[in-house]
Amino acid sequence: MLKVSGLNAGYGSVNILWDIEFTVDDGQIAAILGGNGAGKTTMVRSITGMIRPSSGSVLFDNEELCQKNSRYILNKGIVQVPEGRQLFTEMTVLENLEMGAFNKVTKEHFQTNLKKAYGWFPKLEERAKQAAGTLSGGEQQMVAVARALIGEPKLLILDEPSLGLAPNIVDDILRVASDMAKNDGISVLLVEQDITKALACADIGYVIENGKVALSGTAEELQANEHVKKAYLGI
Ligand code: ATP
Repeated sequence: MLKVSGLNAGYGSVNILWDIEFTVDDGQIAAILGGNGAGKTTMVRSITGMIRPSSGSVLFDNEELCQKNSRYILNKGIVQVPEGRQLFTEMTVLENLEMGAFNKVTKEHFQTNLKKAYGWFPKLEERAKQAAGTLSGGEQQMVAVARALIGEPKLLILDEPSLGLAPNIVDDILRVASDMAKNDGISVLLVEQDITKALACADIGYVIENGKVALSGTAEELQANEHVKKAYLGI
């Protein structure tokens, strides 16, 4: 489904990503792992068209998306849950979810998708009329994920969903991501610093260090890898 190869990108004259290669198959959860400043967010921005890579390929459903704009990429089904959620805090939960229906098709499907989103996160239905900014951090993350789902993603990108949340909330969010991948065939690109949690739900993972893919493998292989254990899992 997604095949990234030879991707180089950065800001101005500073290169951050060096020859990045990875793939995500249909219905797969792929974890992009790495510490602060490794280049994970830059990679997400390159895939979603927020920054223009200097070279490389982002092949999605056999179409080259590298150098396309973010609107075009969104319409192709790559939908991101941004780091820090970026909700409209003065607007209600329902109004935020309505923002997820960004084109004609998703507007027509809104009621069906809203029902589905409420099925995944029942709390949001109870809070539909509440201002999003008054929700707890975990509930806000649920709104951000639900809003992305209303955009009918083929590939959902979750950028650091665990940031600032209690472990049990993170588990809830990742459980929904697993359900979506298994039951709805949505591929998930999970960008995470919490490597333990990410590998517990991912099929495969890529460890990014200094803007390069330092390691890749199945979740089991990475969990057993000595470098991963020492550098990231503290064991
Ligand atoms: P974190 O987990 O801390 O968000 P990350 O792995 O997502 O880190 P990036 O945000 O991609 O890392 O940052 C990679 C490098 O790119 C860092 O050295 C950062 O300073 C630099 N960088 C990020 N955004 C910009 C920008 N807008 N302009 C210039 N440099 C940037």
